Amino acid sequence: MDNSEFRKQAHKFVDWMADYLEHVEDYPVKSTARPGEITAQIPDSAPATGENMDDIFQDFQNIILPGMTHWQHPGFMAYFPANASPPSVLAEMLTSTLAAQCMSWQTSPAATELEERMMDWLRQLTGLPEEFVGCIQDTASTATLAALLCARERLHKFATNHSGLSIAGTHTTYASAEVHSSVDKAVRIAGLGSDNLRKITVDENFAMNPEDLEHAIESDLNAGCIPTCVVVTLGSTSLSAIDPLRKIGEICQKYKIWLHVDAAWAGSALVLPEFRWMIDGIDLADSLVFNPHKWLLTQFDCSAFFVRDKAALIQTFEILPEYLKTREGDRVNNYRDWGIQLGRRFRALKLWFVLRSYGQEGLQNHLRKHIGFCQDLARKVEDHREFELLAPHPLALFCFRYKPEGLDKEELDLANERLLEKINDSGKLYLTQTRINGQYALRFVSGSPTTEQRHIDEAWALIQNIALTVTTK
Ligand code: PLP
Repeated sequence: MDNSEFRKQAHKFVDWMADYLEHVEDYPVKSTARPGEITAQIPDSAPATGENMDDIFQDFQNIILPGMTHWQHPGFMAYFPANASPPSVLAEMLTSTLAAQCMSWQTSPAATELEERMMDWLRQLTGLPEEFVGCIQDTASTATLAALLCARERLHKFATNHSGLSIAGTHTTYASAEVHSSVDKAVRIAGLGSDNLRKITVDENFAMNPEDLEHAIESDLNAGCIPTCVVVTLGSTSLSAIDPLRKIGEICQKYKIWLHVDAAWAGSALVLPEFRWMIDGIDLADSLVFNPHKWLLTQFDCSAFFVRDKAALIQTFEILPEYLKTREGDRVNNYRDWGIQLGRRFRALKLWFVLRSYGQEGLQNHLRKHIGFCQDLARKVEDHREFELLAPHPLALFCFRYKPEGLDKEELDLANERLLEKINDSGKLYLTQTRINGQYALRFVSGSPTTEQRHIDEAWALIQNIALTVTTK
């Protein structure tokens, strides 16, 4: 493709992009594609000769688009949001055109230095301690794995990096029963073993019981295990439970255990001073991750990973073969040594665009708007005779179920499963489910930049109407 064709196509694509964002509401929020439907429309092998961009774009519209779930749709209330604001999309266009691989300072000084600044801007915006420094990771899963590896290595004075885990004993990790599966995955990958992940009981608000944590640590110590890491969750995935950071932090200090904070979704709310109570005790934490790509208007992927002890992080990951050496040495940050991957995308640019375009005030308005939507709607659900809330809902997520009279537990579960299916088949609204105390529950999460009050009202009307059609017989 020559440059004039590139220019022509790019203009056409930009028009399409603006139209898409303007009319995203007209698409069914959840794709209606059946398994294999898209594959069947794509040839078995690559074309022998190049094809025309107009044809390729046509196929994008005809084949790919119907197989997409529209995460920026105002009716997207499933999982957690993956915000992509227009400034963030614009930045990604530039990032994609520059196509730099930013593994070290020298491979693009601006990428590294902007990332340093952006991490510090984020740190200040969220009220994290001055000692915290960090880098952008692809996901919270990767950041949590990095924290766990770092905890393991620091414990053994970085010896297991070389010797493997054979010199050590059984490493135990602790998290609440509500912890995200990325922690289960991290203990597997880090070689610590899922049998050694202790899921600590939760209280009536689904937050970790610190007393039970301490008992578990004591009993592991008595059994000769090595308590390695505690993961505190701020905003659990199922229902947004908040673990008591300070009490858990004090236990970690007492037993000298790495304390990692997983605030993947709820961390964005720290931009609001009224939610800083969640990080009371952050002075006792070793690391924290939160995802601006979830709720802070910055498109996927952008996960902010902070650590207190930068040296420990680097010592865990640094490997310096001749071909990676640069003459700046350690006078600069080489982010390839701050995590698992060598090659790194230029992710700081979109963060810069977003933080500048919205400013602190714009970010706060966005967060407060969605918290307000959810709090108001949760009140309506609670007031409705045939619906019930199933857990506390401090932020922009609440869990509920339809509970008409006369149904037993199984029938209620079935009715709510059907309700969810029908809601999601409507194309207007997309919710996901969880289980709370064994009961099937629907999750409602607001966060899309395109969602307005009328969408919330329409969603509630739709839920009530569909509920009337759900029977168990
Ligand atoms: N931690 C929590 C609490 C989450 O809710 C999620 C995802 O929703 C994750 C971690 C994993 O996030 P990521 O997709 O960035 O790995």
